[in-house]
Order: sequence, then structure tokens, then C-alpha cells
Amino acid sequence: MKRHLPGLSWPRLSDEPIRVSCHFCDALQEAPRLLEGNAAYCCRCGEMLYQNRPRSLARATAFSSSALIFMALAHLFPSITVDSGGMRKELTIMEAADALFQEGNPLIGIVAIVFTIIAPLILMGGLLYVAAPLRFGMALPGAVTVTRLFQISEPWSMLEVFLVGILVSLLKLGAVGDVHLGTGLWALVGLVFCTASAMSGIDRLELWDRLEIALRKDT
Ligand SMILES: [Zn+2]
Repeated sequence: MKRHLPGLSWPRLSDEPIRVSCHFCDALQEAPRLLEGNAAYCCRCGEMLYQNRPRSLARATAFSSSALIFMALAHLFPSITVDSGGMRKELTIMEAADALFQEGNPLIGIVAIVFTIIAPLILMGGLLYVAAPLRFGMALPGAVTVTRLFQISEPWSMLEVFLVGILVSLLKLGAVGDVHLGTGLWALVGLVFCTASAMSGIDRLELWDRLEIALRKDT
């Protein structure tokens, strides 16, 4: 049954309170469905239980599409330029990963590919595939599977850690010659920022509610 209460930002399957346990004191309690931008707090310790993120689908769509553009730029442009002994060499992330493979560091090469291509494609591509059509009340084929996959792979997105790793390896390269940061690396910073913003802006309750309503409408 599709209902839309005044003040609620999207139609809910149910406006009944939901049972949640507090992350801080484990108290099990009934908490209300929220209005846009509101938060629910624990009745025992007062810590926040969960929060509705305003315009979460619009933000998820904007940040995930920006993240994919930054990902493309990060691979198209050189990330680092090394000046050594009169020689100048520009390396993209893939060329750097290839060099790592050839120098006997395949693990770091694989990590570079996973964190700069595979993880962003699954996370941001999956989010865009689900969130953009949902804004218009539509669910594309396989949207539920993609959302589940997206939630499973979410804790494995450690782009921030990878970015720190790149900066540390750049410091090591500094011993070989002068290292300059290229456009590709700044695009990678943009990718990390947009990924973090997209992930933190999603309201999972809203996402699943909207998904279920869109699927019921199609059947
Ligand atoms: Zn509590």
C-alpha cells in the first residue's frame, strides 16, 4: 500500500515505528519513521540511532556520476612525473601498476587496479544505476542485486587508505629524482572526495523503501 504523509519526503511502505538497537548501549526500542532531515535518538543514553539525509537520492546521483568522471580523468592523465638525470617520465596509474608488476611487486600493482578501477566501478557505478532511475520512481533490472552487492562491497572501499599509500610511495620516489604530481593524481583526490560524499549521503531506509515501491509499481 502506497502512502504519503504530509511532511514526509518520499512515500513509505509502512509508517509503523521500526525496532532498532542502540549502537552505544544496546537498548532495543521502537523508533519512529523520520521526516526529512530529522534524527532519532536513543531513549536510554541519548546517542543518535539514525538520521534521514535530505535529498539523498539527488546527492547520490550527483556525487556518483562526478566520481566516475574523476575516475576516467585519473586514468587518462599522468599521475606522476619523475625528473631524474636529465630524463623526464610521465606515468599514468596503469603504467605505474604495470611497472610494479614488472619490478616484482604484483601485489601493490593489483591493489592499485582494485582501488582505482574495480572498487569505484562497483560502488559508484552501482549507486548511479540504482539511484538515478529511482528519482523518477523506476527500478532498472537487477537493481535489488546491485544494491545488495553495493552494500556488501561498501566496507572494502578504502580509497582514502590507497591515496595515503600513493603519497608515501611518492616520498620514496623522491630519492630517485624530482617528483611532480600530475592531473591524474588530483583527479584521484576528486574521486576519493566524491566517493566519500556519495556514500555518506545515502539514506538506506529511503533507498530500500523507494526500491520496493518502484518494483511493486512495475509488477
Ligand atoms: Zn543508547
